[in-house]
Amino acid sequence: MQCPKCKTENSETVTYCVRCHTPLKYTCPACKHVQLQGGKCEKCGVDFAKYAAMLVFQAKDAAKEERASSGWKPPIWAHVLFFPIPLVIQLTMYFVRKAKSK
Ligand SMILES: [Zn+2]
Ligand SMILES: [Zn+2]
Repeated sequence: MQCPKCKTENSETVTYCVRCHTPLKYTCPACKHVQLQGGKCEKCGVDFAKYAAMLVFQAKDAAKEERASSGWKPPIWAHVLFFPIPLVIQLTMYFVRKAKSK
């Protein structure tokens, strides 16, 4: 098999040109069909570029959803911070009453 770029003769078993590393065989990301041309799968018709873009888009979407769901949970320190407020109010009331009684 001759490399389309540097015209080096490669054996049929290699996926990339041994000299310039140009892909000589393309594997379909959807059905794993191996073919000599890139672009579109000869077997299932999947567009390689579109399929790759779709995978990236799905990964981004999943990451966004994960961020949104975890962002709504209040952090643990919030409970710790707000817990003593009634106690502080009671203490303040106690000191106010004590000061008034004097
Ligand atoms: Zn080459
Ligand atoms: Zn395919």
